Amino acid sequence: MKIPMKQALVEIDGDEMTRVLWELVKSELITPFVELKTEYYDLSLRNRDATDDTVTKESAYAIKRLGVGVKCATITSNAARKIEYNLKTLYPSPNATIRAILDGTVFRKPISVPSIKPSISSWKAPIIIGRHAYGDVYKNAEMIIPEAGTVELVYTDSAGNEKRTLIAQMPGAGVVQGMYNLDESIKNFARSCFLYALQEKISLWFATKDTISKTYDGRFKELFNQIYETEFKERCQKAGITYFYTLIDDAVARVVKGEGGFLWACKNYDGDVMSDMIASASGSLAMMTSVLVSPCGVFEYEAAHGTVQQHYYRWQKGEKTSTNPVALIFAWTGALTERARLDNLPDLSAFARKVEKATIQTIEEGNMTGDLARLASTAPARILDSWEFIAAVAQKLS
Ligand code: NAP
Ligand code: MG
Repeated sequence: MKIPMKQALVEIDGDEMTRVLWELVKSELITPFVELKTEYYDLSLRNRDATDDTVTKESAYAIKRLGVGVKCATITSNAARKIEYNLKTLYPSPNATIRAILDGTVFRKPISVPSIKPSISSWKAPIIIGRHAYGDVYKNAEMIIPEAGTVELVYTDSAGNEKRTLIAQMPGAGVVQGMYNLDESIKNFARSCFLYALQEKISLWFATKDTISKTYDGRFKELFNQIYETEFKERCQKAGITYFYTLIDDAVARVVKGEGGFLWACKNYDGDVMSDMIASASGSLAMMTSVLVSPCGVFEYEAAHGTVQQHYYRWQKGEKTSTNPVALIFAWTGALTERARLDNLPDLSAFARKVEKATIQTIEEGNMTGDLARLASTAPARILDSWEFIAAVAQKLS
């Protein structure tokens, strides 16, 4: 008998190699065991183009409604993709669109496997990235400046009063960018991070470049501190957790020299870049879980990596690639666990743990994809293609 579900979760399909693996993970590891209920959204670039990107927004609202979503990696369109897919126009990154609707913080945690040692030998415990998922450069306005001229920031309040700041008296052609964030979003970012740190009983680091960006980054620092002082200080002290603020460059230096084992809260762009650094140094981009925690209490699980484009082109030519599906598997188990928690389904939650355990054990026994074989301390590792790896996990499960 398959494990029943009560409510559906939102399933967001994507592109290229991850789309190929998505189907495989579902058909081999989930649907043989679970009476899977999903509300399906196809966010492949072709379908986003066909729907003028409305499908992306609909998927985000569906997550708001149903409480849990799981998302495959998707192509962010650019000039090359516009030609490749004959697109009507360029669309914003689907992740940015979804995050703008859900707000919230993305937590990225390396998936530890004892035989895969991080490339930074001082790290004894995982470093978790808490990435603010709203605004900044992901919600910017940019302009090409064709020739010399004046560039200003202008704010108009509801009564029509203007406030202006000179950005530059530009002596020639160039580029300009404007971006923003909201106090409420920054405060929610801080709250999510303190809650996550308390739940995991780990300390919280936050870093910005407030020496240079005194007003913008200064606001982040000030609001974080305010939330700590007014809402979390006592609870953190009781739990023996510290809140530590420093400059972003100092944080990077300390992270590399430290032992790990803390939550590192990062602004949107810093989190984008640093989570790939942490993932790679911890093993592989494919060994990282990623969950968006929205202040309205909904969760979106995904893999932290992209669509693995080059592997896809090889797969199209008939090659069975050794693409690592672990982050996709953990996106599914994360979403099933949250659905199980919301709907009070202990069997479903136990099943998700089993899939995770079977995945880790398969790697520990020396059966892994090529990206991990390069790092494994247990020689000889057997390099499997994605199909063989998923079959090995499935065999353990049944
Ligand atoms: P990527 O897909 O993450 O791949 C970069 C490289 O990392 C790959 O070439 C591969 O290295 C390695 N890699 C990543 N995931 C792997 C896996 N599961 N197993 C084995 N190796 C893996 O990033 P990209 O090539 O920069 O971007 C490709 C597309 O993904 C772009 O169109 C981009 O817009 C999109 N993207 C989407 C998301 C998202 O939806 N969350 C995030 C980032 C990028 P080797 O070639 O050395 O094997
Ligand atoms: Mg990135």
